[in-house]
Amino acid sequence: MDYQFMPTQPNSPLLPKNLHILLVEDDEDDYFLTKSILDEISNISFTIDWIPDFNQAHESFLTNKYDLLIFDYRLGANSGIELIKLANQASLRTPIIFLTGQGNHDVDIEAMQAGAADYLIKSELTATSLERTIRYTISQKQAQDQIFFMAYYDVLTKLPNRRLFNDRLDQALLHAQRYHRVLAVLFLDLDDFKTTNDSLGHSMGDELLCAVAKRLLSCVRQSDSVSRHFDPHESTTMGRLGGDEFCILLDELRGVDEAITVAERIIAMLEKPLTIGEREIITTVSVGIAIYPDSGNDRETLLKNADAAMYAAKVKGKNTFAVFEQSMTSNTLLRLTIDVGLRKALDRDEFLLHYQPIINLSNGAIYGFEALVRWQHPQRGLIPPGSFIPIAEESGMIVPIGNWVLEHACKDLLDWHHRGATWAKMFINISYRQCVRRLDDFVANILKHFDLGSDCLTLEITESLMTRLDPSLINIFHNIHNLGVALAIDDFGSGYFSYRSLLKLPLSIIKIDRSLICDIDTNQNLTAIVQAVILMAHTLKFAVIGEGVETIEQLKILQQLKCDYAQGFLFAKPGPNEQTIKLIEHENTKNAIGPLIFNQIKCE
Ligand code: C2E
Ligand code: CA
Ligand code: CA
Repeated sequence: MDYQFMPTQPNSPLLPKNLHILLVEDDEDDYFLTKSILDEISNISFTIDWIPDFNQAHESFLTNKYDLLIFDYRLGANSGIELIKLANQASLRTPIIFLTGQGNHDVDIEAMQAGAADYLIKSELTATSLERTIRYTISQKQAQDQIFFMAYYDVLTKLPNRRLFNDRLDQALLHAQRYHRVLAVLFLDLDDFKTTNDSLGHSMGDELLCAVAKRLLSCVRQSDSVSRHFDPHESTTMGRLGGDEFCILLDELRGVDEAITVAERIIAMLEKPLTIGEREIITTVSVGIAIYPDSGNDRETLLKNADAAMYAAKVKGKNTFAVFEQSMTSNTLLRLTIDVGLRKALDRDEFLLHYQPIINLSNGAIYGFEALVRWQHPQRGLIPPGSFIPIAEESGMIVPIGNWVLEHACKDLLDWHHRGATWAKMFINISYRQCVRRLDDFVANILKHFDLGSDCLTLEITESLMTRLDPSLINIFHNIHNLGVALAIDDFGSGYFSYRSLLKLPLSIIKIDRSLICDIDTNQNLTAIVQAVILMAHTLKFAVIGEGVETIEQLKILQQLKCDYAQGFLFAKPGPNEQTIKLIEHENTKNAIGPLIFNQIKCE
């Protein structure tokens, strides 16, 4: 990987093939003298830019890339020492050799203290001494680069690390404060990276991070407003802060809109599959944006607020961005509270299940129930799964929580069967992390424990899980299928989906996402899409459930399109087990066939 911003050849003791040298010398005779000595050096080739003027020289080393700077001590009214100081101010790390007319110990000390690599007296200059000095200076620079690289760069992605990024941000802030400029910090966190990393293995995970870093860089480079920097030779506007967290600094912005444009481009670019080894991987990113001066005046505040905005983007549903607002700091706190609270919730028995009926559209009977978990928080009341499942997925808590759901849903199902509802099927949502932890064994044990027939259980897996299929995971699903447990694909139509992966799994049911159903009664194009999905599903011998049915019109259209089952507030909202038992008892005693709307049945 040869990123431009890497210090030159940190591992190589070789000199560059052709050294680009800036020689700043106001005396023409002295220039010819030095040049003739340089020309005598046969084993190194050079290109020399000679500049006699102090200001032009300053401009030139800021805008051009040199391997070596040679400054004369006297430059008209100025001195070469001042030029060294200007190079330092610009964080230039090109080695500098200092020349003087005659030996002067004080000038020697001053030049070395200012940062010159060596000090040479013109009258004593020979090709041999100059050659040795150049070689020594450049190899010393390479050694320093190596040390600098290890201290300031991330070895994996070759991006600046947190320390260098912080430095750059501090400098950018000083600049922005002085010239009243706007800058933005973008905090990026890959969505579900931990899960992807677990499934790929760590070395592929590392490869993925490198590929992501490369792609992010290409997005940032496309933007003119972000390419400029303090060190003209290094584009250090982007850093890896650790794990799957990246940060981008955009300076000299006209306003927040420019930062949003970059964020949108990043999100769009990352959505395209990356090829890692033999596999195509989709990895999305959540981006938080903090603007100086609106969202903070100092580095720490800006980074903290960009981070809070990133969490807000995750909560919005991931694969999106959010611009920092004051309310977000409390959201971050809430997230932390949830993370900590989740760890205790299982021990304290704070989870409970609600059930929502799934209706058979051919006869109006209840076909089964979907189990939906809730968290009865001691202070915050009933928390919906959308507020804690994503956090549990990131932290890994989803595995014990998901197992708890499986166990308790099966226990309730057994109770319903004892009440005579042997027809009732149970639908349970499953997360990726649960699957990789030998879900097949866990399910087999549960069924055995409760002595339940496997045909009454359906596991729902999300569309996003389908992008992470690998042979061992596919094997787990086949084992589950062989137990007799059905597999449904959930939220179908809500995101990226490869139709080929539909064929890799032993699926029997497709659940069409609410986002497609909610407008079928008003948007004919959506009706056509849903019709096509149902046709495709039936051709593949899958049954179809329409999710989120709220109106009679939607129900009628689904019936016309030969959708098999439906679920939604029109029939019943998810409710606690007591309410579900009432529905079941009602269903048991019902002889008549007809569409059923259960909302009237309330639980006292
Ligand atoms: P989901 O699997 O798509 O579940 C359906 C969600 O849609 C439920 O939200 C349900 O209350 C809601 N819903 C059902 N009918 C309608 C309707 O007509 N209109 C509208 N607006 N919404 C409707 P809920 O209970 O908040 O669950 C949200 C998501 O949380 C679920 O989406 C599922 O992905 C996840 N989830 C719930 N329980 C579990 C669980 O035990 N394990 C895992 N891994 N995820 C779960
Ligand atoms: Ca579901
Ligand atoms: Ca769903």
